Amino acid sequence: MTHNTTTTAKKIAKIRYSGKCLFCGQSPVDGAHIYPAGSHPHLKREDANIIPLCRQHHYILDDDSGLIRAPENRIKLILVFTVNEYRAAVQSQISELYNIILKKEIL
Ligand SMILES: [Zn+2]
Repeated sequence: MTHNTTTTAKKIAKIRYSGKCLFCGQSPVDGAHIYPAGSHPHLKREDANIIPLCRQHHYILDDDSGLIRAPENRIKLILVFTVNEYRAAVQSQISELYNIILKKEIL
């Protein structure tokens, strides 16, 4: 689902997975984009494109060198570092995201 504001999509992401960071289970969390908002503005407000991560892991996803990782590398990192408890749900969310991307490219 798309929202008019990124804030709403981020709020939804923050309550997914019980509001815990996918990588370490800590809270509070940020709403972190899977496909970066800067390079993929059309996915900025998609719920499926946002995951909850603590601030430290959000920085790591974005690359602590200050660069933004390529989407395929971000997805690999998410799949590797997500704790077992949330892994199936994250795989399902990423599948949903791919379906949204396919539809957007067709339309
Ligand atoms: Zn974390």
